[in-house]
Amino acid sequence: MNLVEAVQSAGVVGAGGAGFPTHAKIGASVDCVLANGAECEPLLHSDQFIILERANEVVDGLKSVMQNTGAKTGVICIKEKNLAGAKALEPLLQKNISLLKLKDFYPAGDEQILTYEATGRITPEGGIPLEVGVLVQNVATLANIARAEKGEAVTTKTVTVGGEIKNPGIHQIPIGTSLADVISVCGGSLIEDYVALLNGPMMGRLVDPSNEVVTKTTSGLFLLPRDNPLATRFLRQLPADIRLSRGACEQCRYCTDFCPRYLQGHSLKPHMIMRVMNEQREPEVATVTDSFLCCECGVCDLFACPLALSPRRFFREFKSTLSKRGIRYAKKAKAYEADVYREFRRVPKDKLLRRIGVSQYNVAPEFHGKLWDVDSVEIPLSMHIGSASEAVVSVGDKVKRGQLVGKIPDGKLGASVHASIAGTVTKVNVRVRIERRS
Ligand code: SF4
Ligand code: SF4
Repeated sequence: MNLVEAVQSAGVVGAGGAGFPTHAKIGASVDCVLANGAECEPLLHSDQFIILERANEVVDGLKSVMQNTGAKTGVICIKEKNLAGAKALEPLLQKNISLLKLKDFYPAGDEQILTYEATGRITPEGGIPLEVGVLVQNVATLANIARAEKGEAVTTKTVTVGGEIKNPGIHQIPIGTSLADVISVCGGSLIEDYVALLNGPMMGRLVDPSNEVVTKTTSGLFLLPRDNPLATRFLRQLPADIRLSRGACEQCRYCTDFCPRYLQGHSLKPHMIMRVMNEQREPEVATVTDSFLCCECGVCDLFACPLALSPRRFFREFKSTLSKRGIRYAKKAKAYEADVYREFRRVPKDKLLRRIGVSQYNVAPEFHGKLWDVDSVEIPLSMHIGSASEAVVSVGDKVKRGQLVGKIPDGKLGASVHASIAGTVTKVNVRVRIERRS
């Protein structure tokens, strides 16, 4: 089995982002592979521990991907403050594999920003780093690639659990474990009226823990008081955002001046989308279609805007409406140049934590290396970009941990899904439920 087949068979997807199937990326030809260990999302510590605990696998995965893509160089990107991570990685470096120590800014881990920081290359508008000869893979994904080569499927996730929870920590959790169980195993909430935030304060979302499970892309779960400033921002509904924007936006353009995509030379201008919303006029086509250039990092609304308005929200709505109508971003051939002030407008992480009102939760949580022993899991057949997998098990089947339960539909982009515990299949719909004691 070659690397692409092994990775496909193990169900590896991008662990730090939206879950793009990894086998569909590593067949590309590039000259540089970046291992993304920047972990820029505030409060998350999962990748730092993967670097510490699985440094050999990260480097092995990186070497395999470099070989497969023909890349001449590999760069492992971590924060310069991650001294323990650097110590774990340095003995493993080689002539063609180096370590890049990044300043502690947000969003250092955005794949386009990382590409620019590591290589000076600007990803074209509406494009991906592959177009400039760079493949970016999260460190957890690389460690999973190394395990895939040994025939091990993706069945667990390293998750940071924090906020108003009794025992914050970093845990190894079987995929499909209910988030309600995660909260209860970590001792429960310290407060009664809380909201649950999945995957971090900048790009995460509020969830109902009783309805959601740990997936291949889950990195963090945080409980916040319902009246925490960040929680109130997440709870604000679209009509309120529109009303506030019309009454308050002063067109100061701070949102644009700090937008990381604008600063790397893209035409995205968040203050312009506010103008479209506020003046209620016929929208300019370019401003609306530039929605596709927004990576939804949240710098404009959660950091830059003095009035807590949300250009990101409007870009997200326009992007969704355009996509539903089958409209895609029309790429233009042009030369890019980063803004001269880019270097001075990086968002410092400590300042960001204070600004969004979660600095009190920025503790170094305890790492628990032992895999959780849960009684049941509900494994989604779709936790990746592409088509949902087709179940290959039925109710009553006995399965082993690591056994295939969902396969990629023929001819489609997707990812295989495997049992994360041994047990009996008790339900199959959009998820496969496995119970240990039935
Ligand atoms: S920073 Fe806020 S007030 Fe200023 S232009 Fe942007 S949305 Fe409007
Ligand atoms: S969320 Fe805001 S700051 Fe981030 S890319 Fe989109 S417009 Fe720019």
